[in-house]
Amino acid sequence: MIRASAVPGAPLSDVRGFVFDLDGCVWNGSVLNPGAGETLAALHRAGRGLAFLTNNSRATGADIRGRLHALGVTVAEHVLTPLEIIGEVIGRRWGRSRVLVVGAAELADVIARAGHEIVSVKDYRRATVVAVGNDFDLTYERLTAASRAAAAGAPLVTPNLDPRLPLEGGEFLPGCGAIVEAVAVAAGVRPIVVGKPEPPLFRLALERLGVEPGAAAMVGDSVPSDIGGGRAVGMRTVLYAPHGPSAADADLVVRSFAELAAAAGIG
Ligand SMILES: [Mg+2]
Repeated sequence: MIRASAVPGAPLSDVRGFVFDLDGCVWNGSVLNPGAGETLAALHRAGRGLAFLTNNSRATGADIRGRLHALGVTVAEHVLTPLEIIGEVIGRRWGRSRVLVVGAAELADVIARAGHEIVSVKDYRRATVVAVGNDFDLTYERLTAASRAAAAGAPLVTPNLDPRLPLEGGEFLPGCGAIVEAVAVAAGVRPIVVGKPEPPLFRLALERLGVEPGAAAMVGDSVPSDIGGGRAVGMRTVLYAPHGPSAADADLVVRSFAELAAAAGIG
């Protein structure tokens, strides 16, 4: 891999495209992390490409872009979630399918728009695929239907296995992974993951930015999702660890967006 030489003290000065994780990195809940807005705007002014990649299983990229704009992050153009590709992934692997969806209405919508039939919970025996996302209206009935359909052989597919959804003030909600694992354990199967750390969303982000992996950095707070996934496609990796680096698994660890700006040579 050929890299332009970085400015001393600014190891990311040659990075042309930055891909940011959102939950726990750019924001917590609906609050931007300190300095995030300023650093993103400065990177944009400096001509660096920006993309945002979240494992959100309840919103499309357009939804999230709207939320970022409302928080003043108007430089957010490329925003990707697993919902951009889950319908296509199902189609490519299993053809036009009858899909039992446990999750938000947005998840069912994107799967239906990709040409699949949505099967009702009562009709779970007809399902040829089970798609499970974070479900704020989860019921035991839905859990049962998904588990039985998956146990009967319908492949189990999910946006992500993230255990928690971080909120402001250090609080969290159970993540998509907590629900998927309940189904997987009951069914005795393993899920197929569409979002991070699997490669497709990272590759799509790089394609949107028009940069090669070696000229791009993945910035996030999760070692397994962001750092592991970014590294697997050849990106440089930056761990955002405001409470102190707990892991040195990334190419660089920053405690703040100010540190990130300095590393990018714009601080
Ligand atoms: Mg995160």
